[in-house]
Amino acid sequence: MTKPLLFYSEEYFKHQTPDHPESPLRLESILKRLRESRLWDELPRRTPTPIDQNLLFALHDPAYVRMLERFCSSAAEGQRIDENTVVSEGSYRAAMLAGGAAVNLVDALLAGECQSAFSLARPPGHHAMPAYTMGFCLFNNIALAARRALEQGLQRVMILDWDAHHGNATEHMFYSDPRVLFVSWHQTPNWPGTGALEDRGEGAGFGTNVNIPMPMRYGDAEYLRTFKEIIEPLTAAYKPELILVSAGYDAHLADLITNMGLTARGFSEMTAEVMKLAERHCKGRVGFVLEGGYNVTALAASVEGTLQTLVREDVVTPEEPFLALDVKHNPSDLTHLIEKVKLIQPLLNGSKVIVA
Ligand SMILES: [Zn+2]
Repeated sequence: MTKPLLFYSEEYFKHQTPDHPESPLRLESILKRLRESRLWDELPRRTPTPIDQNLLFALHDPAYVRMLERFCSSAAEGQRIDENTVVSEGSYRAAMLAGGAAVNLVDALLAGECQSAFSLARPPGHHAMPAYTMGFCLFNNIALAARRALEQGLQRVMILDWDAHHGNATEHMFYSDPRVLFVSWHQTPNWPGTGALEDRGEGAGFGTNVNIPMPMRYGDAEYLRTFKEIIEPLTAAYKPELILVSAGYDAHLADLITNMGLTARGFSEMTAEVMKLAERHCKGRVGFVLEGGYNVTALAASVEGTLQTLVREDVVTPEEPFLALDVKHNPSDLTHLIEKVKLIQPLLNGSKVIVA
């Protein structure tokens, strides 16, 4: 197992969003934590190149890309571009690099330069629609990564999106494409309101969209159970050639804008599960792309948890000042959810799905 390759650019700090939850303080906190844990020195690191325009235009409307470039060129720090997304003069460049990093990451994985990789980028991406910004996102980084993998000849790519919000734009971009299996855990009810259990893809892509709407406060044990009971059989049925993770950390119990119950150890446990699946199905190849996470301390501890797990190939318990919530869940609620997913998803109930 090679060490995870990090993709990072200082230019992400030029996306200036003061007084906004998605602020430069997020990356600052992650970097501080990785330096303290020595991972920063220990892990190989690469500076990304900006996203290739043709690849960007494959998912985002050229008119939108040009509008965004123009808008940012004269934007003040923290200028609002939609109801909850803000930008500054450097945001377009940062977004080009965040998209580029996701693509560079796929290229490195497919070239065998590393088995795992992590893009420490901002702005995040999974809400960025083809022709408009949304939910702090400008370009859909993880979707660009998947698109690159398809361009490189892969036929089956799995995206696991454990950000607390539904990855609505990623779902939208591959909803009818069986070459991308999109799986999203997300708090329900919550913004953006999409991500219904019944939304399973359409046309040739029917059965390759899996939503797991999680009730509030569900935490480590519940997420892990969905891995064992849904994700394992799903992966065995789909047989992905590459696993990509939309790695948002806002389902942490201490997050400021959501109400889930994961801990940094929970993120480590999920990473270990992803590694096992990658070993079993896709030569260990797995790429992580940073999405949300708005309590900067919890975010840094959780990212460290993911990276330490990739290095040690084992579950770790990162130090963090947060105690697990002692919330008594009704296990039958989760059983009901899992049973329903298994019942309606073609890859899990044995009905025919077209997989190339
Ligand atoms: Zn989120």
